[in-house]
Amino acid sequence: MRDTLPVIPLRDVVVYPRMVMPLFVGRPKSIQALATSVDDNKQVFLVTQKTLKEKNKDPQIEDLYQVGTLANILQLLKLPDGTVKILVEGVERAKVKKFLEQKGVLCAIIEPFEDKWETGRELECLIRAIIDNFDDYTKLNSKIPEEIVSTLTDIKEPGLLADTIAMHLPLKVNNFQKILEKQNAKERLEVVLSLLESEIDMLQIEGKIRDRVKSQMEKGQHEYYLREKLKAIEKELGEETGREHFTGEIDKLEEQIKKAGMTKEAEEKAFSELKKLKMMPPMSAESTVSRNYLDWLLDLPWKKKSKINGDLKKAEQVLEKDHYGLEKIKQRIIEYLAVQHRAGKVKGPILCFVGPPGVGKTSLGQSIARATGREFVRVALGGVRDEAEVRGHRRTYIGSMPGKVLQKMAKVKVRNPLFMLDEVDKMSMDFRGDPSSALLEVLDPEQNNVFNDHYLEVDYDLSDVMFITTANSLDIPPPLLDRMETLELEGYTEDEKLNIAIKYLVPKQIKENGLKVEEISFSEKAVLDIIRYYTREAGVRGLERAISKICRKVVKEILLKKSNKKTLITQRGLEKYLSVRQFYFGIAEQHDQIGQVTGLAYTNAGGDLLTIEVATMSGKGNSIYTGSLGDVMLESIQAAITVVRNRSNKLGIADNFFVKHDIHVHVPEGAIPKDGPSAGIGMCTALVSALTKIPVHAAIAMTGEITLRGEILPIGGLKEKLLAALRGGIKTVIIPEENRKNLKELPKNITRDLNIRPVKWIDEALKIALQRLPEPNRKKEVSKKTK
Ligand code: ADP
Repeated sequence: MRDTLPVIPLRDVVVYPRMVMPLFVGRPKSIQALATSVDDNKQVFLVTQKTLKEKNKDPQIEDLYQVGTLANILQLLKLPDGTVKILVEGVERAKVKKFLEQKGVLCAIIEPFEDKWETGRELECLIRAIIDNFDDYTKLNSKIPEEIVSTLTDIKEPGLLADTIAMHLPLKVNNFQKILEKQNAKERLEVVLSLLESEIDMLQIEGKIRDRVKSQMEKGQHEYYLREKLKAIEKELGEETGREHFTGEIDKLEEQIKKAGMTKEAEEKAFSELKKLKMMPPMSAESTVSRNYLDWLLDLPWKKKSKINGDLKKAEQVLEKDHYGLEKIKQRIIEYLAVQHRAGKVKGPILCFVGPPGVGKTSLGQSIARATGREFVRVALGGVRDEAEVRGHRRTYIGSMPGKVLQKMAKVKVRNPLFMLDEVDKMSMDFRGDPSSALLEVLDPEQNNVFNDHYLEVDYDLSDVMFITTANSLDIPPPLLDRMETLELEGYTEDEKLNIAIKYLVPKQIKENGLKVEEISFSEKAVLDIIRYYTREAGVRGLERAISKICRKVVKEILLKKSNKKTLITQRGLEKYLSVRQFYFGIAEQHDQIGQVTGLAYTNAGGDLLTIEVATMSGKGNSIYTGSLGDVMLESIQAAITVVRNRSNKLGIADNFFVKHDIHVHVPEGAIPKDGPSAGIGMCTALVSALTKIPVHAAIAMTGEITLRGEILPIGGLKEKLLAALRGGIKTVIIPEENRKNLKELPKNITRDLNIRPVKWIDEALKIALQRLPEPNRKKEVSKKTK
């Protein structure tokens, strides 16, 4: 073996001993070196370049490593392009002692060296570890056939083992070189082991990343597959346009939200809901919920307002034109509108119309709306017991909706309607919350600019709305009542009803039923008969209904008979249209009776007559009460008995009468809610009549609360009661002295047609009501006198 050999510099590869490898040689200097070696003993020295020089540029000596491999050329093949392909086999490691040039060829004086190692446990452990690790490595790297591991165990030389394993690793050239340079086999193994471990680490990390990417891809593919399938199903069902339609809808919603003029909060909420909606499958239940919500938000009027008419003269005219009478109320409404116009805002207390049904509360509201140019909405609160009906259900409930207030706002489409809340006294409260507290918030001008509906979850400004409430009685929750200014509409007199009917209801019903004035007319007497015999009410609703019924029937007649003769509705013709009389006008007794008194009651439907009967029979001093009497009524009876007992001498009643007799009190007409305390005076009079057997005048009615000493206290609902008396054919009415002041406010015809007798004590009432006064107990008086 020669010490000086031609050098073939290698660009990016290191050849180990006993390794066979093909190489392509292109550089002229290297080709020349090959030629020299072929001429010689076919041996070359392969040494790797430290840096990658340009392909055809010859490397300098300092560019080459100092350790290389002595190799035999097994084959040599010249290729047509001038390069040479050789097959080399490494023989042994060698160190360069010196590079030199001989005849233009780079040569090196080299000193070959062999592996060194010491056998022992340590080396064995190392060998085992490296084989195990390589086993792991082959499992991770599918490019390496696993059989290689079994061939490794046959290698007896540790250095060769290190080289063989290194060959299979994708190392950088400098690492291959490092391994080549290690003469000590153990050290070589250690280097290879550490490089092997880091390769394994890399492969593991790579594996994880690959898995993740793969699973993501799989998920994507899975979804893609499902979507395609869904499309196919939709197509089958003929709904393939669903998705495009949905996207179109979303765009439209977006446009609408932008245009709606919502508050900032509401708009943000709407957009975030829209974003959620986009993610949902179009046919799903959630998307319906979401869309519904957006529809509600969009339906609410956020900026549109009606133009308010501030012309009070015109308002006055409208009110006057629509309603008969009600002067005080109309004046009050005009004042209210005047203040509102000046203040430029709907502030101040809310108007509350209180009165029996059919007296025109709703129609007054409608007139105000027309007079001011506002839209009119109405919501009935009667029977509302759940707070959620006013304020909405939270969206977690299935089928939830906004509350009544915002529902109506969505319907009316302007921000400043006249909003009528009907029957605020008929709301009740239970475990589902108190609707009146929610209503408080609606009605409070300080709070209602941020009204929060549970369903919408965003504040809505109600401060431009003009609220008006109505109620049948003043039995309204006090905090609510506190926010309102009540205007009481009393029942109408017969006279007023007649006027309303002739001036308003008849023309209105003629028009509504498609009739012409030339086709029908009502005689005044006929209308009066309808009032008396077909209705019994404080308002005019029943009256209007009866007129409407007649009009309907006349229309039918005209169409069937095709006659164009004018139909005159007369007193006698009424039965034909309205069948038999429903009520008897004048229920007052025709004859004076013992123990029977006509009282006057005040009910929701206005006033009514009330018959009080008392009978006595021998017994043990018990009292019997029949008829549906309330607690207050029973107390009135007790009080009356005491009053009479205190006066027994004066009234000529035997001392032991109350011990030896039973008293039976009966109030018929069970359907009428009994008006408690004001029956006291009637009760007492009936009792005296029953005990003294002196008849009571039939044409007298009375009302008044009684004290134990027999004083008569004032009562409410005077107008209604007097109207009922008038209707009932009563001539004289006994009222408490303290109610005398109310008489001034009453329509003239009441005070004209009734003989009204205010009294302070029961004794005065007895004097008026009884046919005659009883004789006092003479015996007692005599005995008193003799004392
Ligand atoms: P409420 O709301 O008090 O129950 P409505 O407003 O419904 O009563 O009135 C019933 C009918 O009676 C309506 O058609 C109304 O126009 C008519 N009406 C009531 N009072 C008057 C009045 N003073 N003048 C003219 N029409 C009246």
